[in-house]
Amino acid sequence: MKKRAVIALLVLLILSVGTYSRADSSISDSVPRSSLYDIPAYDGEDFVVLQEDRPDFYTWQISPEPYVMFSKLDDLGRTGPAMACLGPETMPTRPRGQIGNVRPSGWHTTRYDDLIEDRYLYNRAHVIGYLLCGDNATPENLFTGTRHLNANSMLSFEKQVVDYMEKTKNHVIYRCSPTYAGDDLVATGVQMEAYSVEDAGGLCFNVFVFNVQPGIVIDYATGESHRAPTRMGPNAEDDTQEAEAPSAPQATEAPVVTYVLNTNTYKFHYPSCPSVQEIKQRNRQDFYGTRDEVIAAGYEPCGRCNP
Ligand SMILES: [Zn+2]
Repeated sequence: MKKRAVIALLVLLILSVGTYSRADSSISDSVPRSSLYDIPAYDGEDFVVLQEDRPDFYTWQISPEPYVMFSKLDDLGRTGPAMACLGPETMPTRPRGQIGNVRPSGWHTTRYDDLIEDRYLYNRAHVIGYLLCGDNATPENLFTGTRHLNANSMLSFEKQVVDYMEKTKNHVIYRCSPTYAGDDLVATGVQMEAYSVEDAGGLCFNVFVFNVQPGIVIDYATGESHRAPTRMGPNAEDDTQEAEAPSAPQATEAPVVTYVLNTNTYKFHYPSCPSVQEIKQRNRQDFYGTRDEVIAAGYEPCGRCNP
């Protein structure tokens, strides 16, 4: 049996049998929940839905008593999962103060003035957002998150929770789990789970949000980063810079598209790959060269079509 299938079976077993019997209430000791799942590689979408959007909470955890719990930093100084019962009681009443000089694991003060609105690649991102729990500067609640994660992809889910609580005054069981590969200092992404109490899941989600920044390649082991390789090929004329595009082959017949590029994820596909249909138009580019050339340009083969 394939490893993936075995993992999926295990997850099913844990979910169906273990849901009511596991007594582990300490989130510090628990593994990030998303490690239970088969998280696909980032392919240009900000997040993926896990387990049909159903969070992995125990029944005894679904209770309207407000609390907020952070994990201790681990041996590498990394921020772990945080869990809360959010409600009107946990929402901030005072204006937000300064985060100060907390330096979460993998932190670098790196600017890309032309690529990032607000210039800086990294934010001190809250595991449980300030608007949800009122916590602003606890080091155990801050991790190194990209501007895109903090201001776009994660925020959109946090806003769902805030809007829901403001509208209903109900409580929401909420867990956010930064997830690291191996000893990496920067999280690959965060799993975000939410389940509303009083209406038994009127608000309900389970997603994995990628810690990425379009146009930037991040070394998650260290937090170092560099610009993604510049666009290339015959369709690169919309680049603002004078692109020294490699000259198109001097052929009379129309060149044949060999691969399709995702200029956001730096994956390349066969034109027939189903993932090609999912690439946003602005990130999609045809490529006319050889496999060695596309790899030399900084692209990686898609795991689905294995070009
Ligand atoms: Zn593909």
